[in-house]
Amino acid sequence: MNRYRIQPGTVVDLAAWDPADRSAFDGDKDAARGVTKELNNRLEELQELLYAEAKHKVLIVLQAMDTGGKDGTIRHVFDGTNPQGVKVASFKKPTEWELAHDYLWRVHRHTPGAGEITIFNRSHYEDVLVVRVHNLVPPDVWSKRYDHINAFERILFDEGTTILKFFLHISKEEQRERLQARLDEPHKQWKFAKGDLSERKRWDDYVGAFEAALSKTSTEWAPWYVIPADRKWYRNLVISKILVDTLASLDMQYPEPEEDLESIVIE
Ligand code: ATP
Ligand code: MG
Repeated sequence: MNRYRIQPGTVVDLAAWDPADRSAFDGDKDAARGVTKELNNRLEELQELLYAEAKHKVLIVLQAMDTGGKDGTIRHVFDGTNPQGVKVASFKKPTEWELAHDYLWRVHRHTPGAGEITIFNRSHYEDVLVVRVHNLVPPDVWSKRYDHINAFERILFDEGTTILKFFLHISKEEQRERLQARLDEPHKQWKFAKGDLSERKRWDDYVGAFEAALSKTSTEWAPWYVIPADRKWYRNLVISKILVDTLASLDMQYPEPEEDLESIVIE
């Protein structure tokens, strides 16, 4: 899965990353679903172990263009995990109270505790994405944030957090189809926001903002992955695989049981 990881210092040109790539898997969609199911089961076991050991903390950051598949990823990849140990934090437009603080203030308190996996559905990266595209703060303010973010994530890492950041990469045409589906299918209409169309007009600005963020903030301690996301089954497969491989590499152990359990008789 290393092919999707951005090596620190790389200048990212998203035009060179194919959103419909499927080169890491030979089979078809059904075969992929089978493998993803097995990975789901493995993830369930690893998450239980993570929770039991209560040592490691895992932070997963999901960012994408609108309709990029953040919700679907959360639903499919974490299917079967224990809600007690898996949290989702969604970052919407900041409230007045949140805006009265620095931009990391609302984020830090949602970071995972020991034994927890936390999924950020949007994140502090909005503060160098939407904020940059819409000039919500001046360039001399947002341009300092890449360094802040690297330092912030370094703190989390130094204190025991494993960080994985996924950019769900869809094509502009795929977004058109997904927006159209939200209009056409009654049970999807609630997801359609007219504002998504004005954001779509700024597609190129968002691409530029994403490229800057991916280029400046993929670090050894908090790598970015560019996930080909035009095919949902491939997206789920790749993310599941990266997660399982990463958790398996943590070398976790169940806590030592209390002594002399063999001699206990329950009456
Ligand atoms: P979906 O992708 O499923 O539509 P969503 O994450 O887009 O869900 P919405 O309520 O539609 O949820 O959108 C949240 C909005 O909040 C986005 O437009 C996002 O850019 C915006 N937002 C998030 N963080 C910030 C921020 N720090 N400053 C300004 N806007 C933000
Ligand atoms: Mg939205």
